[in-house]
Amino acid sequence: MNTLIVLAHPDPHSLNAALARHAAATLERAGHSVQITDLYRAGWSAVLDRGDFPQLAKDERLRPVEASRVAYATGCQPPDVTAEQARLRWADLLILQFPMWWFTMPAILKGWFERVYAYGFAYGVGEHSETHWGDRYGEGMLVGKRAMLSVTVGGWASHYGPRGVNGPIDDLLFPINHGMLFYPGFDVLRPFVVYRADKLDAAGFDAATSTLGRRLATIMSEPPIPYRRQNHGDYNIPSLELRAGLGTGRSSFALHVDDAD
Ligand code: FAD
Repeated sequence: MNTLIVLAHPDPHSLNAALARHAAATLERAGHSVQITDLYRAGWSAVLDRGDFPQLAKDERLRPVEASRVAYATGCQPPDVTAEQARLRWADLLILQFPMWWFTMPAILKGWFERVYAYGFAYGVGEHSETHWGDRYGEGMLVGKRAMLSVTVGGWASHYGPRGVNGPIDDLLFPINHGMLFYPGFDVLRPFVVYRADKLDAAGFDAATSTLGRRLATIMSEPPIPYRRQNHGDYNIPSLELRAGLGTGRSSFALHVDDAD
């Protein structure tokens, strides 16, 4: 099995870096291959701008979707972007290791998605018509691969529980899990979350790494989050609304998980 770990933390001695190293060592001990993209160490550019589209004439307007389509289709993308796309093609498992910053991923990781997820690679894939709204949400270029968020958060588990003031953790992570991972085809696994991360002591670190190690031992066989697939009958097309009679008693993000019925 090939695993790509994308790490988004500025300090190599951080908890996040330690968790990434622990995951890599655990997988390698089990005979798997691992690559780590350490975004800060690589000096990753977090901003999608003209530099990503060398095909544009000097005075030509930058239309990001069209520019991305042309750059991907004609092989004009910058080397850091193509290298990450190659790593994604290589990987069977993607782990995103990051601290929660302002209720989502650090900006550098958001910028990794914005730049690596090109038109034709992660979106704009498949037929787009009134009867087939693209190969996405369960289909796409990254189908057959798995992905898991490994997140550290400052707050307590209860702060992120069903009645917690921050909102449920699954809701906060839904735009990443569903919108950025399930969208281009990944099977998305339950997130690994370390709560009260700033207060973690040595025993807490040992407990966290043990739990993570146990997850990794069976990661390719654990059931993914059962998100509903767009093109398998649950949604009306082209309105892309969940069909009447499905998701009864559910609302919001939970509608799109089909263990709700
Ligand atoms: P570190 O500071 O590196 O480590 C935390 C503790 O883990 C250390 O004190 C140490 O005791 C232990 N540790 C680390 N490495 C090891 C090791 N190798 N062995 C043993 N023990 C170790 N929190 C929220 O809940 N919600 C938010 O929206 C949110 N927004 C934030 C926004 C910003 C800009 C910032 C800076 C923080 C925010 N936080 C938030 C808190 C943030 O999520 C935590 O600070 C972060 O998750 C801690 O991860 P770290 O890798 O930086 O921890």
